[in-house]
Amino acid sequence: LLRLEGVTVRFGARAALDSVDLEVAEHEIVCVLGPSGSGKSTLLRIVAGLQTADAGRVLLAGADQAGVPVHRRGVGLMFQDHQLFPQRDVGGNVAFGLRMHGSVRTEQSRRVDELLELVGLPAAQRRAVASLSGGEQQRVALARALAPEPRLLMLDEPLGQLDRGLRERLVVELRGLFGRLGTTVLAVTHDQGEAFALADRVVVMRDGRIAQAGTPLEVWERPASEFVARFLGFDN
Ligand code: ATP
Ligand code: MG
Repeated sequence: LLRLEGVTVRFGARAALDSVDLEVAEHEIVCVLGPSGSGKSTLLRIVAGLQTADAGRVLLAGADQAGVPVHRRGVGLMFQDHQLFPQRDVGGNVAFGLRMHGSVRTEQSRRVDELLELVGLPAAQRRAVASLSGGEQQRVALARALAPEPRLLMLDEPLGQLDRGLRERLVVELRGLFGRLGTTVLAVTHDQGEAFALADRVVVMRDGRIAQAGTPLEVWERPASEFVARFLGFDN
């Protein structure tokens, strides 16, 4: 479904992405792991079309995305800092994606309830965004990203602000949900436990390059380098 060929993004002398090749198959869940500054968010922004590459190509379903605007790519993106619409209530935020798909109002309200239930915020439709905790806002952002059922869903630290218990429960639920919907997912996380529980394949990044890509078992059993082994916490 998604293919990156030699994608390079430079900021001054530094490459945030350095000739990255990556493929994500339809229905696959890929989690990108890596230290802060390794290029994870930049990778998602490039695929979404929020940023342009200095070199290389991004293909979705075989089509080169050069010049294709964000809203034509059929991808969903949940940002690291979630960026909810503060002037809309919770339901209005979640319905944002649905409305663009032209669902009728009652159906829309039912779907919003379903999505909020799913992320553990039942009966929150009428609440003001400002009245929610950071973690609750993150869950609303997740529901909003899920709403339009994009062909590729990209999540940047989707559970970053949640406590461990909720993260573990949500990871299991999300995996089930993505499986049922057949959603293709490219997710970024710092948390290797989360990545290993969610992903069919994990990609470990270092300094804008892919240090290793493989199934969780492959990466866990055969880290490709000392960097990967250390990142996976074999020394702590
Ligand atoms: P984190 O885990 O902290 O979110 P990340 O892996 O998502 O990190 P990126 O945000 O992709 O990292 O950034 C990769 C590198 O590119 C970093 O060194 C960052 O400082 C740099 N960078 C990203 N965006 C810009 C920008 N707009 N201008 C200059 N440098 C940038
Ligand atoms: Mg980031």
